[in-house]
Amino acid sequence: MQNRLKDRIALVTGASSGIGEATALELARQGARVAIAARRRERLDALAQELATLGAEPLVLVADLADEADAQRIVHEAEQRFGRLDILVNNAGVMYLEPIGEADLGRWRHMLELNVLGLIAATQAALAGMRARREGHIVNISSTAGRIANPNAGGYAATKFGVVAFSESLRREVYKDNIRVSVIEPGAVATELREHIGHAATKEALNAWADSMRQLQSQDIAEVIAFCVSRPSHVNINEVLVRPTDQE
Ligand code: NDP
Repeated sequence: MQNRLKDRIALVTGASSGIGEATALELARQGARVAIAARRRERLDALAQELATLGAEPLVLVADLADEADAQRIVHEAEQRFGRLDILVNNAGVMYLEPIGEADLGRWRHMLELNVLGLIAATQAALAGMRARREGHIVNISSTAGRIANPNAGGYAATKFGVVAFSESLRREVYKDNIRVSVIEPGAVATELREHIGHAATKEALNAWADSMRQLQSQDIAEVIAFCVSRPSHVNINEVLVRPTDQE
């Protein structure tokens, strides 16, 4: 178990909190060396200290992944530091929920740039090296909102449906290069994600909904991701939908 990812190199985006942080730690526990990216340097530095104690030789990459150039840069810096990239976990994301009629399109544009375009840019940057080595695994974090579009979630659902569509198209383009693509669709996970919702009524309703159930923990998703990327190379887990038992 501990060595399932020995000698593997992973880059996890959005690693300064929540699912990304737990994933970086889980991959490290299983033996991977890990690069971690997000905007909050202090959080990344604190995580790096923990990763170092696990032998993960962490690389901290401060980046705004809504910026295409930054999304590409982190991949290249990880490749430079470790010589290659085996696993890219495209996890960074925001969730701005509000009714479509009242939506702040500037915020929705930012959400699209991060959740979709940033993910695409990082993926594109990783493909060249993975193709050359005929090996790699790209894990994209979508959501149950990438399967079911709820009211007040139009913009967010558009990004997460987009991630599912992109992932399937990507898989079909790269499977012959021995590159695997997995898309993970979590239900409610107890993280900071909901804190950024600007629309008060929507935020209140969503928090009440989440509080009504035993939510998933970031570690639950981290273990699913680690399971997907530690399968033998002929096994590609394409899509995983993980809901809390209490979620309808
Ligand atoms: P968090 O808010 O805890 O984590 C989001 C991460 O994304 C943080 O590390 C944050 O770091 C990073 N991030 C945000 N904006 C940027 C940016 N512009 N550039 C770089 N990094 C950025 O939430 P979660 O862990 O819940 O979210 C992780 C992923 O899981 C998201 O894609 C989310 O949509 C998805 N998801 C979450 C669910 C949930 O219920 N929590 C359910 C389904 C999917 P920083 O602020 O330091 O930049």
